[in-house]
Amino acid sequence: MAEIKTITKNCGSCGAPLEIKSAYTKSIVCPYCDTTNMIQDRGLDPQGKMAKISDTFSIFAIGRKGKLKGKKFDVLGRLRYGYEDGFWDEWFLRFEDGRMGWATEEEGECTLFFKEMLTSAIDLDAIRVGKTVPIAGKKVFITEICDAEILGGEGELHYKVKPHAQLTHYEGNAGGKLVSMELWAKELEIHTGEPVEYSDIKMEKEEDPYN
Ligand SMILES: [Zn+2]
Repeated sequence: MAEIKTITKNCGSCGAPLEIKSAYTKSIVCPYCDTTNMIQDRGLDPQGKMAKISDTFSIFAIGRKGKLKGKKFDVLGRLRYGYEDGFWDEWFLRFEDGRMGWATEEEGECTLFFKEMLTSAIDLDAIRVGKTVPIAGKKVFITEICDAEILGGEGELHYKVKPHAQLTHYEGNAGGKLVSMELWAKELEIHTGEPVEYSDIKMEKEEDPYN
């Protein structure tokens, strides 16, 4: 991954130098003081402390490297979302071609999502569970809508995240792909994803991320 430049900026709260490995990273959680920093041209802008995430069983961990169907990736960050019935984690993966994806694990199934560009305006009021709506050039059948909140995070995040930020999460499917949308205060993020077989993921032996 030599083609990707790592930059170093100082935590806006404690001043610790933080390495930013992806050009797509918009926020970074300081591992020393847990402050979430938004990345601005002038430096890091502290947004408050992010809660520590309790560990759950996962093949992913910050700093770990692996391969998906032979394509190398490393794990740069994780976000935990809470909703009425519990929580889910998103792992931010950087692939060797620079592409950022995110992986979720739920009930023993891993799904890998990539960002979609929004090609036309979306009428959010028209989105209802059980309806098919045009989104980013696709006809998306909506299966779930829920209110969610950021419960915690670590590492590099490619959203502008604040601790306890509120969002609306939409899920659906289109043409055999899963579609996930997050409506933040001002921004709508759309991702499409596909289930990944665990047998297609090979993780390298764990390394100490702080060495
Ligand atoms: Zn800090």
